[in-house]
Amino acid sequence: MTTLLLLGALAFAGAAAACKAGKDETAKSPWPAVSKEARAAAEAALAANPDNPFFKPYGTPFNVPPFDRIKTEHFLPAIQEGIRREQAEVDAIVANKAAPDFANTIAALDHAGIFLTEVDSVFSSLGSAMTSPELQAVDRQTAPLLAAHSDNISLNEKLFARVKDVYDRRDSLGLARDELFLLENTYKDFVRGGALLDAAQKARFRELNQELSLLTVGFGENVLAETNAFKMVLTDKADLAGLPASVVAMAAAAAKRAGLPDGQWLFTIHVPSMTPFLTYSERRPLREKIHRAYLMKGDNGNEFDNKENVRKIATLRRERAQLLGYASHAAYVLERNMAKTPEKVNEFLAQLWAPTLVKAKEEAAALQALMDRDPKAGRGTLASWDWWLYTERLRQEKYALDDEALRPYFKLDNVRDGIFALCGKLYGLQFIPRPELPRYHPDVQVFEVQEADGRHTGILYMDFHPRPSKRSGAWSGGFRRAYDEQGVRVPPISTITCNFTAPTADAPALLSTDEAGTFFHEFGHSLATLFSRSRFRTRTVARDSVELPSQIMEHWVFEPELLALYAKHYQTGEVIPAALVEKLEKSKLFNQGFITAEYLAASILDMAWHTAADPGAADVRAFEKEAMDAIGLIPAIVPRYRSTYFSHIFSGGYAAGYYAYIWSEVLDCDAYEAFREKGIFDRATAESFRKNVLEPFGTDDIMAQYVRFRGAEPKIDGLLKNRGLTVK
Ligand SMILES: [Zn+2]
Repeated sequence: MTTLLLLGALAFAGAAAACKAGKDETAKSPWPAVSKEARAAAEAALAANPDNPFFKPYGTPFNVPPFDRIKTEHFLPAIQEGIRREQAEVDAIVANKAAPDFANTIAALDHAGIFLTEVDSVFSSLGSAMTSPELQAVDRQTAPLLAAHSDNISLNEKLFARVKDVYDRRDSLGLARDELFLLENTYKDFVRGGALLDAAQKARFRELNQELSLLTVGFGENVLAETNAFKMVLTDKADLAGLPASVVAMAAAAAKRAGLPDGQWLFTIHVPSMTPFLTYSERRPLREKIHRAYLMKGDNGNEFDNKENVRKIATLRRERAQLLGYASHAAYVLERNMAKTPEKVNEFLAQLWAPTLVKAKEEAAALQALMDRDPKAGRGTLASWDWWLYTERLRQEKYALDDEALRPYFKLDNVRDGIFALCGKLYGLQFIPRPELPRYHPDVQVFEVQEADGRHTGILYMDFHPRPSKRSGAWSGGFRRAYDEQGVRVPPISTITCNFTAPTADAPALLSTDEAGTFFHEFGHSLATLFSRSRFRTRTVARDSVELPSQIMEHWVFEPELLALYAKHYQTGEVIPAALVEKLEKSKLFNQGFITAEYLAASILDMAWHTAADPGAADVRAFEKEAMDAIGLIPAIVPRYRSTYFSHIFSGGYAAGYYAYIWSEVLDCDAYEAFREKGIFDRATAESFRKNVLEPFGTDDIMAQYVRFRGAEPKIDGLLKNRGLTVK
């Protein structure tokens, strides 16, 4: 997917805004009226595509996409029409006889492309959540079209001349803060999109974008194919040694869904299947088998091998960055982030790496000691496929805490209701089930979100469990433009897509504590989408602040006051016992060395690829080894993603940006301190966070917004405390 960004970033890619459509909003619309020509062309397009639901108003409640009527063959003509319309809108701006000004050029450009954004947001969302060979074919067909279209706008010399004219006079125009922010970012977008290149450079720039658009689509397809290809079918009961009944039931249910006979158990390298196996299985060779399969995704030398894609993507991105005058792709990306330069990111990561490695080594030593005492382990050195098992045993030994024993208190619906309750306490929100709205899959849950006084805020689609047509991971995205074509603001439709533990024959979906945290995280992205308010569609979010709205939500998950509201046993309804909560609290820093190390290692690998001098010549495995040897990563820990399935950076929007999670964590830990100081459900603090940070997210400088909320810039202390790190 060309515009799909992972883990919630889509929510900020332009299709987000909020609040009820009202006359006041319409009156303030800064956009040009729809011309007669544009209206006639739209009518002609509808006449040529009478059955295509994208060409006319959806006619559904809340104007949600009519999934019951959308067919795969509707996307290509709709995307082509979207490209045509946006091009016509751009042509009209260029043809305007009036001298360029903010309204007729910058605001008009902000308005252009609404139709395309709408179609593409539905297309990209389905491409990730429920793809098919037919949809993948459309993606391969449209990715280069969309890349060329984007270049046709950013390389349009007459258009850029108008933008530059307004930009050069920006200080004398008396613009409001949000207008100035939009103007500066629009200008910057053009420059970064090649507007200052000469003709030969522009031609090469276009070629690079074409090639990259296809390579990144291919990368993602390969990862999906490899994730679905591996199946470990167990037929001997003895191979289930160590697995709790719930995990066995899950594997039996998976086997049944796959059409296997009774008495067989299926494990896959989807995380909800693999992680419990690694956590409990006493069969070391099987643990090794499944974990190796996971680690080798895209690196098997078959038709789905991604090594050449990695080399090519990194090489072409570097060439493109250098064409624009940057030393590396990382330098190009980071210019717009809070961190600004690769040096600053590397320095930040190194500062965290040193104490993390010390902690991870201590953890490894403790696990090795445990393994040495295990009569069933055989002699051996702790390997990556041993880490989960002995970590779980150590957790039980130290804290008498068993992650499986916690699951009954984290029934999916209860966790969801806990999040709803939290949003009620903080923001007064209400969530009303809307099962009657069209859905793209029967498992999807749909809710209407309302303010305390009943005003409509938006719609939320939630899609929880894995299936072969779904990309792995969890993310928040959206289905809807923030405005209709008349410039009237319409409430957004946000989506949350996850790969959580599925229900079994005997039990509903019971989440691990990790999954509960992920749910809160993605919900935070959705809140930013649902709350967002601005006069313009364009949002420019510093990538390394994008996890602030999501990660702050994670701080509430295990707060005893909130657990009391939602963590109820799925059978008895009993609230999670205080003793368990206390154990959870005490074990908070347990295994943090590992979690932080595998994350930082992946971030460092990302930076290595996007600053490398000659990535095209790299042997992918040797490149990884060198990058990891340089930081002294121990063999029992593997980077959270190896290169060949690092979709965040090779098919998503996180290239030279995977560090952003922990950079954002400086912000979210510091922000949560404000709640700790005033009370974790304090309404005034929540309202200030909403007004100063969430509503204008991406329409102003993030540090300025943050300071308006917190009264000061964030300190790193909260992050260090949260991770149990001591920096010298
Ligand atoms: Zn996120």
